[in-house]
Amino acid sequence: MPGSPDLIFKGDDRMETYREDTMMRGDPDCVMRARDESDVREALAFCNKKRLPVTFCASQTSMTGASVATKGLLISTEKLEGVTDIGKHGGRTLATIRPGTVVADAQKAIAEAGYFYPVAPTSRDECRMGANVSTNATGEDSFKYGPTRCYVERVRVFLADGTEKLLGRAPGEIPSDAHNRAGYFTNWKNPLDLMIGSEGTLGFIAEVTVRLLERSPEFFSALVPFPSNKGALECLVGFAGNRTPSIRTLEYIDKGSLSAMRTAEGVPDFPEGTEALLYYKEEYKDEKTKDAAFEKLYHHIAGLVPQKFADSIVVADNPKQKEEVRLWRHRIPEWANEEGRRYWAANGGKVGSDWWVPVDRLLEMMDFFYREADATGLPYIAYAHLGRGHPHTNLFSKTSDEWKRAEAALIRCCKKAVELGGGVAGEHGIGKIHTNLMPIQHPKEVIEKMKGWKKEFDPNWILGQGNLFDI
Ligand SMILES: Cc1cc2nc3c(=O)[nH]c(=O)nc-3n(C[C@H](O)[C@H](O)[C@H](O)COP(=O)(O)OP(=O)(O)OC[C@H]3O[C@@H](n4cnc5c(N)ncnc54)[C@H](O)[C@@H]3O)c2cc1C
Repeated sequence: MPGSPDLIFKGDDRMETYREDTMMRGDPDCVMRARDESDVREALAFCNKKRLPVTFCASQTSMTGASVATKGLLISTEKLEGVTDIGKHGGRTLATIRPGTVVADAQKAIAEAGYFYPVAPTSRDECRMGANVSTNATGEDSFKYGPTRCYVERVRVFLADGTEKLLGRAPGEIPSDAHNRAGYFTNWKNPLDLMIGSEGTLGFIAEVTVRLLERSPEFFSALVPFPSNKGALECLVGFAGNRTPSIRTLEYIDKGSLSAMRTAEGVPDFPEGTEALLYYKEEYKDEKTKDAAFEKLYHHIAGLVPQKFADSIVVADNPKQKEEVRLWRHRIPEWANEEGRRYWAANGGKVGSDWWVPVDRLLEMMDFFYREADATGLPYIAYAHLGRGHPHTNLFSKTSDEWKRAEAALIRCCKKAVELGGGVAGEHGIGKIHTNLMPIQHPKEVIEKMKGWKKEFDPNWILGQGNLFDI
């Protein structure tokens, strides 16, 4: 290994910080906290020559084991921080960002320069920009703004042997905002689209250039209580179908998720009989349009539910309140990860999934999910980005038998989602723990084609071993 001072070897207590993500533990031989790009390039060239496995990690908030190394070298991007440029280039407003920059820090710097980068994973206070590209992250505002792919204009990458490559959009090229999170983006025409969402298997993202929007419009957030799941889901599907451009967020929080949310401080009481919430954000131009938008929402809801529910809509319209609501929502996955981790020692834990379906098949799919989940007899929650047909569903198992039961139900849900024209992974990807879902999504020949693409980028198959493919 070339002489880098920031190496942590097996047996060093500091290794513990880098051993796990939210779903699994690994066992790297060595961690390198890269100080600069040359650390990464030299390490890659060395490992490629010696055929040593290399995994990349940022903040390890991955929900799939993708950032966990089971052996070999783990390269952490945490020190490669900073927004290096914000400005107009060839008629577009762009920001160039180092891979270890925390997403919230990048967004803050961009907002201070007068612009807006709209991809908002709820983990944005921790997760980092290179990883967001590598997972094609989305977020609570994805109903309006779509995933990371929509904004990436260029990435500078280091291939497995350390050589540098620049991948960029052609002028006028419009990226897809489609759900496609099971392996590589199969419809790619530009290799940039292969790199986005590749889960650390094709190269190291050394620099990201994203397209910015003009200053963020004002918006209000609302939590709308419903006396039934079905009522909340029907309302959400109705909003999603209308595609009102001012609606930024359309998310669902079921009863179990509401209990999880309640473990955060300050969550208000909702009326007795509340079974689900709609998490809603709407953008507005001025106070008059804000009032009109809220009135319209209120009257719409009052037409769907008993008055006491409409009267209990929680509205947040100043930055402090909106952030509070965002953190309540963020508490759901946080709680789910903590709850799952409690049972790791007994080979149980959270069995999570993020299958998706076209919105017009959502009611049918959610009905299927609830029947499957009830039949397991295990606790479960369903929440998140249903405006894009994409919930997170988590079942909680305390033993390995329960885990198997939960996993079997999840697999049936994934098969059903694909049957309805959707997919097995709408956001978190495949990583190491969902490689068994790839054949549900793709025929064998497509998976073989993907392996061929990987071999072109990484002939010795050293990068992200165990991610995407079960080898
Ligand atoms: C509570 C919670 C909420 C979440 N909410 C969301 C959400 O709203 N939307 C969403 O999309 N995800 C969400 N996630 C998942 C996770 O935050 C995202 O997948 C995120 O992109 C991972 O960022 P990270 O910095 O933690 O990267 P890591 O977990 O460390 O790495 C993720 C992947 O990126 C690869 N990688 C990292 N850096 C590089 C690089 N420079 N070059 C190449 N590959 C690299 C890794 O190898 C790995 O495959 C959530 C997670 C948690 C725990």
